[in-house]
Amino acid sequence: MIETLPLEIELTSQSRIDGVDFENLGFGRVFSDHMLVAEYKNGEWVSAKVMPYGNLYMSPAMSVLHYGQSIFEGLKAQYMKDGRISVFRPWENHKRMLASAERMCMPAVPEDLFIGGIKQLIEIDKKWIPKQKGASLYIRPFMFASEEFLGVRPSQEYKFIIFTCPVGNYYSEPVRLKIETHYSRVAQGGIGCAKTAGNYAASLYGAVKVQKMGYHQALWTNSLTHEYIEEVGTMNIMFRIGNRVLTPELGDTILKGVTRDSVLTLAREWGYEVEERKVSVKEIAEALQNGMLDEAFGLGTAAVVAHVKVMHYDGKDYELPPLEKRTLANKIYDYLIQLRNGDIEDTHNWLLIL
Ligand SMILES: *Cc1c(COP(=O)(O)O)cnc(C)c1O
Repeated sequence: MIETLPLEIELTSQSRIDGVDFENLGFGRVFSDHMLVAEYKNGEWVSAKVMPYGNLYMSPAMSVLHYGQSIFEGLKAQYMKDGRISVFRPWENHKRMLASAERMCMPAVPEDLFIGGIKQLIEIDKKWIPKQKGASLYIRPFMFASEEFLGVRPSQEYKFIIFTCPVGNYYSEPVRLKIETHYSRVAQGGIGCAKTAGNYAASLYGAVKVQKMGYHQALWTNSLTHEYIEEVGTMNIMFRIGNRVLTPELGDTILKGVTRDSVLTLAREWGYEVEERKVSVKEIAEALQNGMLDEAFGLGTAAVVAHVKVMHYDGKDYELPPLEKRTLANKIYDYLIQLRNGDIEDTHNWLLIL
């Protein structure tokens, strides 16, 4: 299956699946029986192995622990109504991993290792894919610097790993966001466009402050002037004002979300006027004040769509319209859930079907 290097397979002698309560999976706490581990050394991928999920050996001097070269991806697989398995746009996740690797001075992960590895793992652990409606198998590919060396330079050794987690029907409750105008998650010229661990570390302090104030998450703004909206940090953000759909344009401070891209395609097809450009805090605040903002929602693989219920700006909370009026976000949610379930035709070739 993997052409670039042989894939060794060691199956577990004792599946853990019988101990799993599939009715109470939550998110990211239950791990399937197997994982794929590949190693990069001396300028090439030297081994790839599917093995029982478990702890890794590591040196305390391992480069990632000190200097943070670490990137990841997240995507989902699920059973379709006809019993086949669909994976949503894995090629986009592979492309983004290549872009993140490039930005973080890490090696490229070959497509057949990434996609072929996912296929192989799903084949071996398909009994871990939950069957309840809306549940799925979350797939986490990631790569980190594994060289035992304390010098500051790109590591010369890496590990690429994929493991999977059965996850429940993750419905995000409508979120309360604070438009953050003091702390920053990323900076212009920095690594906000890479799906890298450090961006999450950088966001925690501001996010915890926001949570203490009674909001779920920060809506980050540009670090230099805090005049322009960027994203939520786990999700991209989108707004609807009448027939117009607004979302901040990509750049080096915004992650290129696969959900965001899918929704922009759909919104255009559905006849909305889509504006991908700089979106100022001022215009969103004005739309909020005038009651013109019909919808705001976050977009990401975990929740698909998260309605924004309240937005806080400059000392004031603004309530958004009730959920039943969220025509776009509701349509997106239904479309993507039905597509992955095989209820509607995959006209965009977004599904990898196994
Ligand atoms: C992963 C991620 C998203 C959402 O991307 P999807 O591909 O839609 O899951 C948005 N922002 C950040 C910072 C992310 O890491």
